[in-house]
Amino acid sequence: MRIKTTVVGAGVVGLAVAERLAEKKDQLLVIERNPAIGQETSSRNSEVIHAGIYYPRGSLKSELCRKGRRMLYQRCRLANIRHLKCGKLIVATDPEEEQRLAQIKQQAEANGVDDLSLLSATRVKQMEPRVKATAALFSPSTGIIDSHRLMRHLAARARKNGALFFFETTVEAIEPRPDGRYNVTVRYRDGKTDRFATEQLVNCAGLEADRVAARAGIDIDACNYRQHFWKGEYFSCDLPAGYIKHLVYPVPLPANVGLGIHATIDMTGRIKLGPNATYLPERIYDYTVKADNRKLFYQAARRYLPELRQEQLQPEMAGIRPKLQKPGDGIRDFIIQEESERGLPRLVNCIGIESPGLTSCLAIADYVAALLATGSI
Ligand SMILES: Cc1cc2nc3c(=O)[nH]c(=O)nc-3n(C[C@H](O)[C@H](O)[C@H](O)COP(=O)(O)OP(=O)(O)OC[C@H]3O[C@@H](n4cnc5c(N)ncnc54)[C@H](O)[C@@H]3O)c2cc1C
Repeated sequence: MRIKTTVVGAGVVGLAVAERLAEKKDQLLVIERNPAIGQETSSRNSEVIHAGIYYPRGSLKSELCRKGRRMLYQRCRLANIRHLKCGKLIVATDPEEEQRLAQIKQQAEANGVDDLSLLSATRVKQMEPRVKATAALFSPSTGIIDSHRLMRHLAARARKNGALFFFETTVEAIEPRPDGRYNVTVRYRDGKTDRFATEQLVNCAGLEADRVAARAGIDIDACNYRQHFWKGEYFSCDLPAGYIKHLVYPVPLPANVGLGIHATIDMTGRIKLGPNATYLPERIYDYTVKADNRKLFYQAARRYLPELRQEQLQPEMAGIRPKLQKPGDGIRDFIIQEESERGLPRLVNCIGIESPGLTSCLAIADYVAALLATGSI
């Protein structure tokens, strides 16, 4: 069996790439260290389809978020994937925040997101009687998605086109061969190792993407590929379904590493608060939710949900963002790079795929396919 493409990682990005590249005539493998698809960041997030409001103009985050959002809504409709274009309110609670709303609207328009409207306090009250705001920005194209259903759909379509999935299999080494292909060494659950050759390789290893790039011989510090872990915790709210009908976000601080603790709803109408952003310097997989943080979450959300009571908050879950920045560093873009210039043709690294990675997944897959289309052996 001659293997054309190997995709490392079966999160939402790896699955979208596998679906995009799988063709009956050429063999494609998906290598995943966990026993099933989407066991890491792709199932530990807010499940929000972002509009693309805040990302710097011209960045991959901005471009791929807007394109990915359109593709995702279309795909959801065609494939019957549960989603809801519920819209999002960014709420100001004082005059200073009101001024920031105007700046955010300007930034969004510069990014090609031109459907935001400024709402008065009265209009916000009509739309969301339980939300307190002195003004708000409304983003009608923001929504929510059942990300598990999306991942199952992508995996099924990839399989239908002949993709083979190897679970509980970890990529340990990637070495270029004299014939232009790559030797990939994998370790199975029982500790045994195996090696195969692939023509092209796409690294969608999420939190491990920089380490997988290093295994191909890339100096990740020299290239600025090193990822840093930032935990985001969530608390669920014991509130009736329909308590709020839109996603409600605070005005983000300019230097924020996240979007501020916001209130999201899921497809069942359940409300959760989060995520916060805690730097994990040891780079450990810490998915615990500190019950002690309940007060912090309550205080953050109470500003815009004044009737909320602290005892209604319960620790829910946590996810980890693979960020390219440490505390104090400036915002970084996604890195989606074909590595010919580093002597590794047809090897594409997807590094730093934090939010809006879920929204962007189908657009990332198109982008990867375009990068690979120019290389052949
Ligand atoms: C708290 C939080 C909230 C977020 N909210 C949103 C949101 O609302 N909207 C949005 O658009 N985005 C959001 N995101 C971002 C989004 O979740 C991610 O961008 C996306 O899930 C990344 O998918 P992925 O496939 O790149 O990574 P992952 O889902 O992490 O998948 C990578 C896979 O690679 C596998 N792997 C790693 N190393 C190896 C190896 N050596 N061999 C084999 N397999 C390997 C892992 O096991 C894993 O399954 C959020 C992220 C976080 C943390």
